[in-house]
Amino acid sequence: MAAQRLDGRLLAAQLESTLAAFIAAGLSKGIRPPGLAVLRVGNDPASGVYVANKEKACARIGAISFGCHLPADISQTELEAELQRLNKNPAVDGILVQLPVPASINDRALLQVLDPAKDADGLHSLNLGRLLRGEPGPRSCTPAGVMALLKEAQIPLEGVRALVVGRSILVGQPMALMLQQANATVTVAHSRSLDLEGLCRNAELVVVAAGRPELIGAAHISPGAVVVDVGIHRRKQGGLVGDVKFEEVEPLAKAITPVPGGVGPMTVTMLLLNTVRMWAQQHDLSEPCAGL
Ligand code: NAP
Repeated sequence: MAAQRLDGRLLAAQLESTLAAFIAAGLSKGIRPPGLAVLRVGNDPASGVYVANKEKACARIGAISFGCHLPADISQTELEAELQRLNKNPAVDGILVQLPVPASINDRALLQVLDPAKDADGLHSLNLGRLLRGEPGPRSCTPAGVMALLKEAQIPLEGVRALVVGRSILVGQPMALMLQQANATVTVAHSRSLDLEGLCRNAELVVVAAGRPELIGAAHISPGAVVVDVGIHRRKQGGLVGDVKFEEVEPLAKAITPVPGGVGPMTVTMLLLNTVRMWAQQHDLSEPCAGL
């Protein structure tokens, strides 16, 4: 039987419609629209595409995007001052620092300057701590998007053996915490792990966020496993590819995310959701998309 496709485009479009209606209801009460500021430093071409996608997504739901594109040679002090200005801007509900920033910038220090109440990607230490404790707060967009996709597809997580390949602060670590909070039994693999094939084959759910094109093939996957591919890479010959060899793995899997059209669209939608939630809090509105 063919694997179930975990369709991120479809779910993202449904959630965007819900958010657009939620914003329209707020605007009809005379409330200003939600605002998202995306801080981009330098000219990394992939970042340019990601930022443009986020700005278009804001426009689709009726949110305002505040583009803030700064030169690669900006100093840490100037950049932090820019971030402080966005922190203080009352029309800005959410702020995202588009990573990576140039090597001359200390991104960890930069993220700590972010107002945690406007941290649209959940990467401030306070918000990462809230995730660790299971307290409410903005959650990292990519793993939150994966959780939403699994929930929509009614993939059981309780007691399930889950493997997360990758341990970055952006994806792997928060992913592992979220799965653990859903009562999965979680193993985390990384570049020093031994026997990645064996670890993967033992898992009923494999989330791959290694940043290595087509690292995971048929030999890694047990029949009936659920496979989530976070990786995204541009092929030299054109097109996108993930961390998973899709054609090999799909016939084995119970469910799988495609690349493109799986996790990517959900990341953008979760960024919108975090921003709209921050806006709703500012204006004492109910929580949009509660339960996600
Ligand atoms: P990252 O910071 O480079 O982290 C990669 C992680 O994978 C590290 O923990 C690394 O281990 C581990 N790793 C690398 N090679 C490995 C191997 N051969 N076996 C096992 N583990 C290995 O990357 P990231 O920011 O987490 O992103 C991961 C991927 O997701 C990238 O392709 C990125 O473009 C993509 N991404 C996609 C979205 C989306 O919206 N779809 C969003 C964010 C990221 P060590 O810790 O030992 O170095």
